[in-house]
Amino acid sequence: MERTTLRFYGDLTDLARGVDRDGTVDVPLGAARSVKDVVESVGVPHTDVGLLVVGGEPVGFDHLVHGGERVAVYPPSRSLEVAGLLRPAEAPRRFVLDVHLGTLARNLRLLGLDSWYRTAADDPLLAAVAVAEDRVLLTRDRGLLMRREVVHGHCVRSQEPFTQTLEVARRYDLVGALRPFTRCLRCNGELVEVDRAAVVREVPPRARDAERFSRCASCEQVFWPGTHHGHLTGLVAALRRSLEDGAADAADGSAR
Ligand SMILES: [Zn+2]
Repeated sequence: MERTTLRFYGDLTDLARGVDRDGTVDVPLGAARSVKDVVESVGVPHTDVGLLVVGGEPVGFDHLVHGGERVAVYPPSRSLEVAGLLRPAEAPRRFVLDVHLGTLARNLRLLGLDSWYRTAADDPLLAAVAVAEDRVLLTRDRGLLMRREVVHGHCVRSQEPFTQTLEVARRYDLVGALRPFTRCLRCNGELVEVDRAAVVREVPPRARDAERFSRCASCEQVFWPGTHHGHLTGLVAALRRSLEDGAADAADGSAR
């Protein structure tokens, strides 16, 4: 039977099943198949691929392989963007998260990033929201990312919310896009600063001396420093530090 050889680079070697130490795996082909299907058959969603090269030429996901080819599979990376092979602005900085990523959704909202999240949402709904609202789909479910209609997505590797937040911020280069405490943690709406007099009757006595108040433009929840700012300030500071430390490494590119 004909075989196509896939060679994975960077962190894609963690996702690909059956690869050897070089990140290489042979896939048997019964018939001609799209390169998307072949890459996904070893567990790597197309959303996590930045560049495919066959015979020295970049190809699209619909490119057909017949067997005998070698396919190089690269993750999205800044070095590819610099080389002009990837369009860096392509991925929107808006997200939709699956039901298992509630803490990550909360962290992203804290950072001011537009993050759609519901405690109940099935796969078709998540994919539909990603497409209709041009959002990046974040999930650990690779099958969900392999849906053909999903354009932008990231397979979240870490299981720990802080590391997940860092992972997403790095992948989408979010360090300059952070607007902490501008978004409602409950519903993702935008927060608007309001006068103390307008809200003083709505907040508990312990909050009445707070420096400033804001109200969600969507669900009208009132926030003030202290509702969530304590450990959140720490999260924002830690993220900024980690991202700035990581920026130098990332400049090297990850397509090694
Ligand atoms: Zn709200």
